[in-house]
Amino acid sequence: MTHHDHQHRMISHCPACRSDRWSRRFTKNGWRIRACRACGSWFVANPPTDDRLREIYRQEYFTEYLAQHAQEEEAAAWRAAVANARRRLALIRRYAPRARTLLDVGCGTGAFLSVAREAYECCGVDVSAEATAVVRDRLNVEAHAGDLRSRAPSLNPKDVICMLDVVEHVPDPADVLETVRTLLTRRGIILLTTGDTDSLVCRMTGRAWHLMTPPEHLTFFSKTGLIRMVERCGLSVEHVSHRPVAANIGYMAEKIAAVMGPPLRWLPRLTSLCALAKKDVDVNLLDVVTLIARPR
Ligand SMILES: [Zn+2]
Repeated sequence: MTHHDHQHRMISHCPACRSDRWSRRFTKNGWRIRACRACGSWFVANPPTDDRLREIYRQEYFTEYLAQHAQEEEAAAWRAAVANARRRLALIRRYAPRARTLLDVGCGTGAFLSVAREAYECCGVDVSAEATAVVRDRLNVEAHAGDLRSRAPSLNPKDVICMLDVVEHVPDPADVLETVRTLLTRRGIILLTTGDTDSLVCRMTGRAWHLMTPPEHLTFFSKTGLIRMVERCGLSVEHVSHRPVAANIGYMAEKIAAVMGPPLRWLPRLTSLCALAKKDVDVNLLDVVTLIARPR
């Protein structure tokens, strides 16, 4: 994280690989997107200040997020997140069969932890105090509000640390990863997921890519850039894959309509009419990377 909070912060080095060779890509909602020539990651050149980011997360993001997740556990988004949690935990078991403790960085309202707590002694951290309160009250799982670095000194080492769709959100992904490494036990593993700009879907949709959502998303990693960052942080990569993601049909219809514009504007209404909207399906657009690494 930058130590000076200027009104206009400019990013001149690729957050993934630190190269200063980049080219302009496009502007989205006033955010300037650059592409790194060295690793193919994209990033917001003019990200909001830390104060502004905190505001954004309090006001917009989590109001929407809580509304989606907080109702009943049958809520579609929650159900899809739980399905994803089950398969990610199966992967974790393969790489860390003896693990006992687990930390979820960016735990949100706890969809992942709600499943993980069946097998691990769990703990969550999230920037949103509202979200961590939900985790403590509803799941009875230890959860801390704030950023990971300020919390780290009070946390015990963990066997598994998850960062699910987190590195694209933070202004300083490599710093967060460094902190994560210091929190791992000797045989510990980290599991992280994020979008992949190397994917065909990203290349074809560009500005309209469903993960192209500044300023919530600030870095758009390529597989290459992600691996370089992880290795620079003293971790060695053991697994990289593009795994299917459980998604809700209603949610997907809205995303597709948003990307395609007028020709498909009727799609969300149609799917909600025929009750399809409540169904979950596995999709694999091959644009989300799952990575497992451990300390070198
Ligand atoms: Zn780069």
